[in-house]
Amino acid sequence: MTAKLIKGTEIRDQILEEISDEVNEIKEKHGVVPGLVTILVGEDPASISYVTAKIATAKKIGFNEIQATQPPDLPEADLLALVDKYNNDDAINGILVQLPLPKHVDDKKVLNAIDPDKDVDGFHPINVGRLMIGGAEVKFPPCTPAGIQEMIVRAGVETTGAEVVVVGRSNIVGKPIANMMLQKGEGANSTVTIVHTRTKDLAGHCKRADILIVAAGVPGLVKPEWIKPGSCVIDVGVNRIGTKISEKTGKEIAILSGDVDFDAAKEIAGFITPVPGGVGPMTITMLMKNTLKSLKLKLGIA
Ligand code: NAP
Repeated sequence: MTAKLIKGTEIRDQILEEISDEVNEIKEKHGVVPGLVTILVGEDPASISYVTAKIATAKKIGFNEIQATQPPDLPEADLLALVDKYNNDDAINGILVQLPLPKHVDDKKVLNAIDPDKDVDGFHPINVGRLMIGGAEVKFPPCTPAGIQEMIVRAGVETTGAEVVVVGRSNIVGKPIANMMLQKGEGANSTVTIVHTRTKDLAGHCKRADILIVAAGVPGLVKPEWIKPGSCVIDVGVNRIGTKISEKTGKEIAILSGDVDFDAAKEIAGFITPVPGGVGPMTITMLMKNTLKSLKLKLGIA
């Protein structure tokens, strides 16, 4: 069997078009557009490239986009004051603080200082709690897990009653996606197992998964024989396994691989996400969706 490829790039384009249409509608009716501020502290190349991509996407879909780039030695108190400034700025609906922050800054303190109603990354403890409660309580689901769920739903994979196995228990991927899949409602209602480095029979758990979500950061961790025939495999892992020269730019770029042996797995699974081009493009997309939702909540039209 050859699995159906769930292409994050295609789903991203569809969702961004939907958001852009809604932005235009809101602009016409209410005279406002979503406002997103990206706060980048320092010059970490990976962070710069993530923030650049977020800014470009926000601009493309008609958001009011503000870049608040700061020097690497910005004192923590100044960063907290900056967050507070945007907490109180009516034109801003979403505040994104790019992680990691420099070592002299307590990132928890900064993330917790963001107004939960503008916390479009969904990392504030109040939003983590809302996610745990589920249903209408949820305001901003964290972006990567939200992207994963959206891909599963849009691919038409049945989740109700499905055995979902999540490899990894991080706060940004494993725990939230497991929590989301077990909630009552569309795209969820699953029976969920989380596995990690202390799990006794990793292979045994994976083998019974109708939906296998892998977020470990270990290339080739999931072996083809662990995959249930016809199942849906979501590979969240992004691992740099070498470098190559880009045909487009002539520059050296990373060779990326997921946590699943893709070539073998695609002959067994029913659905599979590629790396790159799978979950990756969905994260920024869901950040935009959350920012639009923040404005809609403020306008009372969500
Ligand atoms: P993380 O914080 O390092 O967590 C990894 C989890 O995987 C941990 O819970 C760990 O278990 C588990 N794990 C590691 N090796 C394992 C093994 N051999 N067997 C079983 N479990 C194992 O990573 P993360 O932030 O969740 O990210 C996971 C991967 O997803 C990374 O490759 C990251 O780059 C990628 N990612 C992609 C996106 C995106 O595409 N947008 C977003 C976020 C992350 P323990 O808890 O027991 O240590």
